[in-house]
Amino acid sequence: MKCMKIFCDFDGTAAKNDVGNLLFRTFADNRCFEIVRSWKEGKISSRECLIDLCKITRVTKEELEQFSDSQELDPYFLELVEFGQQKGIGVEILSDGLDFYIERILSKYKLDKIVPFHSNHLQFLNRNKIVAEFPYYDRGCGHCANCKGYHVRQSQKKKKPVVFVGDGLSDRCGVKEADIVFAKRGRALLKYCQENQIEHYEFDDFNDVLYKIKRILDH
Ligand SMILES: [Mg+2]
Ligand SMILES: [Zn+2]
Repeated sequence: MKCMKIFCDFDGTAAKNDVGNLLFRTFADNRCFEIVRSWKEGKISSRECLIDLCKITRVTKEELEQFSDSQELDPYFLELVEFGQQKGIGVEILSDGLDFYIERILSKYKLDKIVPFHSNHLQFLNRNKIVAEFPYYDRGCGHCANCKGYHVRQSQKKKKPVVFVGDGLSDRCGVKEADIVFAKRGRALLKYCQENQIEHYEFDDFNDVLYKIKRILDH
């Protein structure tokens, strides 16, 4: 189990808040609630959801930087990364959100050179208009913009057991493929795991995850 790989969702998992959702609540107009609802109900894909949300968003680079800088990571996530470094276990972020804030927040914690991430790409069209680009879309299931299942499979090809830590609906493809699953208490992913008989550990924060991973490695 030593060379396991740990994939973590970003929004609401490695980051305390659902930063992507908060971004659109802050800088898009009220139509964002209906767009997100349609995605949750499975009426539109997460790719369509992000395209639509970006269209109704007005934010400058400076505003987005300031917004990102106000966001925090789960403090125990840093401990997990440190533990991984000691043990030679890679910790990576998989997100169906946008790279701009992930990169900014990771660098605030000096993790940008340490923790790789795969996500969708945010591009500024002009001073205050943004658009989402999808570098991984073609390799995924067609519903996710950045399908986490694809990244998990890539890692498993290298014969590494994959741990997946997540909280939301965008983690469904990831947990279907992963070898060990952590689902956050009280969130949509936990319900999904329960309803689909996906074996999982419940957790509240990365302190729980770290404790459990240490125990798994001991056995
Ligand atoms: Mg999440
Ligand atoms: Zn998918």
